[in-house]
Parts: sequence; C-alpha cells; structure tokens
Amino acid sequence: MAKAWIPFLEGRYSPTLDVWPIEAKEFNRIHEFYENLREGKFTTTKCKKCGRVAYPPRVICPECYSDDLEWIELPTKGKAAVVVEKWGGVPICYKPPLIDAWIDLGEDSPVRHILSRMVNCPTETLKEGDEVQLAVFDVPAHPIELKRETKIAERVFFAFEPVKK
Ligand SMILES: [Zn+2]
Repeated sequence: MAKAWIPFLEGRYSPTLDVWPIEAKEFNRIHEFYENLREGKFTTTKCKKCGRVAYPPRVICPECYSDDLEWIELPTKGKAAVVVEKWGGVPICYKPPLIDAWIDLGEDSPVRHILSRMVNCPTETLKEGDEVQLAVFDVPAHPIELKRETKIAERVFFAFEPVKK
C-alpha cells in the first residue's frame, strides 16, 4: 500500500497539515467505515426506521433524524462516468494532477453514484466508461491520548483506481 504524498514533510507527522480524519473509535462515530475499509469493504449507513441510504455514512438519518442506522456494503467496482484532472488549486497533501471521477456503481447499488479521487491512474488514461475499483491505502498515523496514555493510531483511507485490463 502506498503512503499518502505530502511534500516536504518527508514522513514526519504534522498536526496542522493533517487532512485525514481521526478514525479511532474513541474519537469518531463512523469509525466502522474505516474498519470496514481495512477489510476491503466499502460501506455506508442505512436508516433502520425509514430505509434511507446515505453516502457518505452518517450518524443521524438526513431524512427522519433517527440515529438507528445500520451498515450496508456498497459495490467496490464501478464505471467512471465523468473524469476530471486538476493541475491547479490542488490541496497541499496531493501531488498534481489530482484526478477525480464521478463513479457509477451500477443500477443495483443502494447508492448509484459517488465522487472519488483516483489513484494509480496515469494522467489522461482514464476514459468515461472504464472500469474502476476501490483502492485502500495507509495514510500517516498520528498520536492520540487515551486515559493519559499516548498511542499511535494507524489510519487508512480510500480512493478508486482503474481496473487493469
Ligand atoms: Zn430515516
């Protein structure tokens, strides 16, 4: 798994430049999303009361405000519907070009489309209609304090990548 690219940090952790979520269960109510990613599963939340599926995952249903939600799996493969390559205005943690895709997860998916960053994707190679798949990678770990003890919290994040032909 590739490490996130943060120029000039050379592997050191900087809290002020940290763009990744704090994922530890003590600090994050959707920590299960990240635990599922570690197992290669792409998940989101579904309301047990009204059935509304929300993406990204929520802690409260945006439809009926219930907090009785369950985790459901989304497809880990889809098709690129729109591809955008950004060279300017790219956040500091990304190496340009930043490639984003609007991804069609298919008719049977509870969430039809998602927007995702693309990785392992050489510039100007991804075309509309190309197959893409979930890619989970490590991002910089960070220290958290729990009961006066400092521990290092490992983290992962996700993007999508082209399916090799
Ligand atoms: Zn609901």
